[in-house]
Amino acid sequence: MSTISEIFGTMVFDDKEMKKRLPEDIYNSIQNTIKNGKHLDLTVANVVAKAMMEWAIEKGATHYTHWFQPMTGVTAEKHDSFVSPKGNGVIMDFRGKELVQGEPDASSFPSGGLRATFEARGYTAWDPSSYAFIKDETLCIPTAFCSYGGEALDKKTPLLRSMEVLGKATMKILKLFGNESVTSVRTTVGAEQEYFLVDKEVWEKRPDLIYTGRTLFGAKPPKGQELDDHYFGSIKARVLAYMKELDKELWKLGVLAKTEHNEAAPAQHELAPVFTTTNLATDHNQLTMELMQKIAKKHGLVCLLHEKPFAGVNGSGKHNNWSISTNTGVNLLEPGETPYENAQFLLFLSAVIKAVDEYQDLLRISVASAGNDHRLGAAEAPPAIVSIFLGDELMSILEAIENGARYDKKEKEQMRIGVHILPKFPKDTTDRNRTSPFAFTGNKFEFRMVGSSDSIADANTVINTAVTQVLTGFYEVLSSAEDFTEALHDLVRDTIKNHKRILFNGNGYDEKWTKEAEKRGLSNLRTTPEAIPHLLDEKNIKLFVDNKVFSEKELRARCEIQLEAYSKLVNIEALTAIDMANQLILPAVSKYTRELTKSIALKKELGLRDDYEVSVAQRLSNLNSEAFARTRELEGELTAVKRLKGAERVARAYAKRILTKMAELRALVDEMESITAKEYWPLPAYGDLLFSVK
Ligand code: ADP
Ligand code: MG
Repeated sequence: MSTISEIFGTMVFDDKEMKKRLPEDIYNSIQNTIKNGKHLDLTVANVVAKAMMEWAIEKGATHYTHWFQPMTGVTAEKHDSFVSPKGNGVIMDFRGKELVQGEPDASSFPSGGLRATFEARGYTAWDPSSYAFIKDETLCIPTAFCSYGGEALDKKTPLLRSMEVLGKATMKILKLFGNESVTSVRTTVGAEQEYFLVDKEVWEKRPDLIYTGRTLFGAKPPKGQELDDHYFGSIKARVLAYMKELDKELWKLGVLAKTEHNEAAPAQHELAPVFTTTNLATDHNQLTMELMQKIAKKHGLVCLLHEKPFAGVNGSGKHNNWSISTNTGVNLLEPGETPYENAQFLLFLSAVIKAVDEYQDLLRISVASAGNDHRLGAAEAPPAIVSIFLGDELMSILEAIENGARYDKKEKEQMRIGVHILPKFPKDTTDRNRTSPFAFTGNKFEFRMVGSSDSIADANTVINTAVTQVLTGFYEVLSSAEDFTEALHDLVRDTIKNHKRILFNGNGYDEKWTKEAEKRGLSNLRTTPEAIPHLLDEKNIKLFVDNKVFSEKELRARCEIQLEAYSKLVNIEALTAIDMANQLILPAVSKYTRELTKSIALKKELGLRDDYEVSVAQRLSNLNSEAFARTRELEGELTAVKRLKGAERVARAYAKRILTKMAELRALVDEMESITAKEYWPLPAYGDLLFSVK
């Protein structure tokens, strides 16, 4: 058994490998590209490509691919082999231009009209800040994906743009604080990933799980998660074996998987990595999701990444832990020890508060998907209303600053930013509110609304850009101030005063909060079709265009793609529900009813009591007729919705008409399941699924 340090990063062409294999001048040149975004010279690229290929071949690779993240949210790759013809034979070859740029025939990726099909080719460009790695005997080169017009066709390009502008805006602020030693700033992310594991043989008997990733029917089992006995409970041997292999494979790819534990729901688990630079964290999370699913199959398991595989049981999300760090190793959301550090911390803290308040709609949009709609606001995940949790300690400090009051009654003086030291607040008072969508957890913010199957790119693009916008405004105020400390104090105080409506320390699941939030004027975009069109609100277009993260054209395309993806998904769900009803459920109930009626006839002849049979046969006949009627209606609604025009209108109709009809059908089916003899029911029950891994 090899140790972690022996296997960690062995499948990654990382700094260590580059140093070993590249001539010094080439190594320095590529470092300059990675660290400072300097243009990569083709002669340099040729040397890097050759070294990379030799390394990959030593590791058993035969192919290479540009690995990218189109707007579908899943990663894409097109494999080419290293083999090139030469004379009568072949040689292994990989050139700089193939490393730096690729042209996948990508006409079938969604582009929202950005790339007309006659010019089907977009191109991929190497992101040298994310190391190449080997997966499935293929050298994978992390790339961005653009159209020839330069429009982003992926989730990575805007993320990289947002990281760059935030870095610049932060540097300017740091200079105001007299900090000259910092040469670059990056955002960091640790994405905790939740997932379910079910037995593959049981999964195979559920068409809804196979086609849609969630159960469309299923009566509640007698035991769910009410005992909370699964949370942090001992992990079953089979799951443990799976987690061990998953960790090991992730470590090889340089993903620092750190903690694995059970989650609240039966069969639910979580993997947390150590945080890293945001674009790497995004790549790593994509790899994590891919390996989770792949390795599960090897263990006779299926990994469900859907946000809500089971009704009535906790859904899955991703906790996106986010912060800003300098190249000198300072976390700018760490309160610090001195008045100076505290002042800087309070400025960045207020910037995040203002950003989240002003762009709460965009945060909601960044996590909007058909799957996540079942989770947000369903009394277990964070609600669809965005708010910030700071903890009592920090909250009272901010209140004192706002009111010019003394923070601690014993202190004689008012707290002045830049003059006084913040009192210490113990770390555990800053967390433990699990209901908050955006929580300050000591030295970072944790955004908890991201769906478990979603890429974290969109969410971070929004957070980075919104904070950039606010910091740019702060810079203007502070750079022209005569008295910096005074201006800083006023700025923090006014920001708190103007944006405190977004601060909420209470229970986000409480009904009362929805009403209170409405009074505060917070947005509550309940569904994806309601949320997405706000991407094109004037203030949002302005935010992205001014900061050069999206062009207006790119935003319009994205809006359309997301609405269409929503409609397609719900359409598949509806078709699956109809098929399951017609082919499995209605016939099974009919068959069981016939069995009951035969029994009734027989019992009548013999003069035996038939109360049970009569009662159940009656109920099932009624319910099955109703279920049949709902199925017909659902079919009718689908036909009607398909005739509608316009992405927004169609998506809204799917949300309103189709999902409602599906829920009506489900209620009837679940009731029938609960009174039908188990041997007649055509699907594994919730209990069979949730407790399938022994
Ligand atoms: P918990 O939330 O369970 O108390 P931690 O606070 O240790 O656990 O960390 C949760 C996640 O936050 C981990 O993935 C961790 O790497 C990440 N994290 C910690 N510090 C930072 C940071 N400065 N920036 C981004 N993510 C961070
Ligand atoms: Mg957490």
